[in-house]
Amino acid sequence: MMDPTEKEKWLEAGKIGKTIRDYAVSISKPGTLLLDLAKEIEKKTSELGAKPAFPPNLSINQIAAHYTPKYNDKTLLQEGDVLKIDVGASVDGFLSDTAATVVIGGEEIDLLKATREALEEAIKLARPGAKVDDISRAIETKIKSYNLSPIVNLGGHGLNRYEVHEGEFIANSVTNSSKTLRVEGAIAIEPFATTGGGYVIDSPEVQILMLERHKQTRSRLGRQILEFIESEYKTMPFSKRWIVEKFGVISEIELKNLVREGALYEFNVLKEKDNGLVSQFEHTLLFDNGEVIVTTL
Ligand code: MN
Ligand code: MN
Repeated sequence: MMDPTEKEKWLEAGKIGKTIRDYAVSISKPGTLLLDLAKEIEKKTSELGAKPAFPPNLSINQIAAHYTPKYNDKTLLQEGDVLKIDVGASVDGFLSDTAATVVIGGEEIDLLKATREALEEAIKLARPGAKVDDISRAIETKIKSYNLSPIVNLGGHGLNRYEVHEGEFIANSVTNSSKTLRVEGAIAIEPFATTGGGYVIDSPEVQILMLERHKQTRSRLGRQILEFIESEYKTMPFSKRWIVEKFGVISEIELKNLVREGALYEFNVLKEKDNGLVSQFEHTLLFDNGEVIVTTL
């Protein structure tokens, strides 16, 4: 059985994740500056007593994931944009990870419906020790029933304290793996559907980074930045913008150096290879003593 204090923190992170996701959906309108949306999400997270588990991922149309606004981002949401809002909260390192997709200024389309229903089907099968491939099959079947493709190289994952991705990978299509889910702790399930072929590739752009390993660095600013990252974000992803807001534009060069030296890891912006439109829904689940709780519902 899980420690009751830890369980309380997982649940609180889930509740805050749900609140910021729904709030972000409610303020995403034609003409909204993406940068303002990100800042509103971060402000709300802090008001609710949590920290971001990772930068708000605000990915539009064929961008599947890992886009978060630059410090001087000029992107405006436009009528008809398919916006993925993927957010998470950290309560003392206990995390949530949840996403919803909206059509800006429009109605829910099949692309969104298929993904939402795939997540519902997957959650019905998720229990301690369940076969991962059964969940993958349910997601694939539902999305294909809409004549859409699941994105095969993205999927759900385990969560641990200060670790957004840990342990099992829950593919969005059948892999014939015999792996099973953990019996205690947190996982995230996240179907992605697309009008394209169903595969994401790295684009050259990077807005999100993470501590890779402790390294010595010669530059004084580099050391200050690393110390800040280690104390503020630990092993949780952070955005370039947060570092620029704290240390100035000059820090972008230092971040590059720290990546080259192996201290930091980069998450490239992911785009669908055929430029298909992409939709995503995600919930965090907690397994404790045989019980399944969707913490972000
Ligand atoms: Mn997510
Ligand atoms: Mn996730």
